[in-house]
Amino acid sequence: MENNGLNEKINALRKEKNAVILAHYYQVAEIQDIADFVGDSLDLSRKSAETDADVIVFAGVHFMAETAKILSPQKRVLLPDLRAGCSLADSCPVDEFKVFREQHPEHVVVSYVNTTAEIKALTDITCTSTNALKIISSIPESQPIIFAPDRNLGNYLNSITGRNMLLWDGACHVHEEFSLEKIMDILNQNPDAKLIAHPECTKPVQIAADFIGSTSALLKFVTQDDSRKFIVATESGILHQMRKQNPEKTFIPAPPIDSTCGCNDCRFMKMHTLQKVYESLRDDKFEIKLDAEIIKKAVMPIHRMLELSN
Ligand code: SF4
Repeated sequence: MENNGLNEKINALRKEKNAVILAHYYQVAEIQDIADFVGDSLDLSRKSAETDADVIVFAGVHFMAETAKILSPQKRVLLPDLRAGCSLADSCPVDEFKVFREQHPEHVVVSYVNTTAEIKALTDITCTSTNALKIISSIPESQPIIFAPDRNLGNYLNSITGRNMLLWDGACHVHEEFSLEKIMDILNQNPDAKLIAHPECTKPVQIAADFIGSTSALLKFVTQDDSRKFIVATESGILHQMRKQNPEKTFIPAPPIDSTCGCNDCRFMKMHTLQKVYESLRDDKFEIKLDAEIIKKAVMPIHRMLELSN
């Protein structure tokens, strides 16, 4: 029996508990394959808001499960491993951000969904890397903006919109660590390959890239582009869907500076396993609980984002 019957056990529990499993593109392949839905942060927010399931098992990181709870407070939202945090969300502590915001009262706050519920409660509109350009463009040019927490995405948005948003100095450990030198070595050995990168990557990697886009945009690009080979500068979990949808094409994960394996995994995303998804469903763990006041404040910027991105 495959996986010691874990797939069958998960399927039985999912039915019995009217549960849905949502998985981010950065999850391990076997979790992506058993999920009801696989997507990026924006897709998963939409699914969380729409689902009529009683239980959401969120195979992603903590801020994503919180977003699901904020959008569906009446549902039980479970995170299979509570340690699945996010270095980018952690780079924006609420006390410091509150002071920063108070120092710039005339600014509108746009924050990336990769933030805690407390930061969302201090935000005017959230965004994801998929809709960030649309959200920023919806704000009048004369209106000053604070953008948090990712400085690389913020700098990228400033460069393509010509705006001068005030940036919080945060970053994601996965996207900051790609080695341009190693990427250039791979490009020299594979001159027919295209380099594609997530906007959370550093500027030198962005400048070298043939295409920059969110996880979903990268997936769409490799499917539509005529090239047969791609070097992918984002978390390596997305390669599973790229290969599944394009079995005739070659995908090479871009290597980080400090690595022996040659690919770049998010240690938080990879904390979940199929066994933990099963135990989460079986034992209702680990349930995300949020203060009602925080939910009330944090839901508004997420709704604004969802309205603007429809
Ligand atoms: Fe956070 Fe980066 Fe991991 Fe995404 S890849 S969850 S931004 S640490």
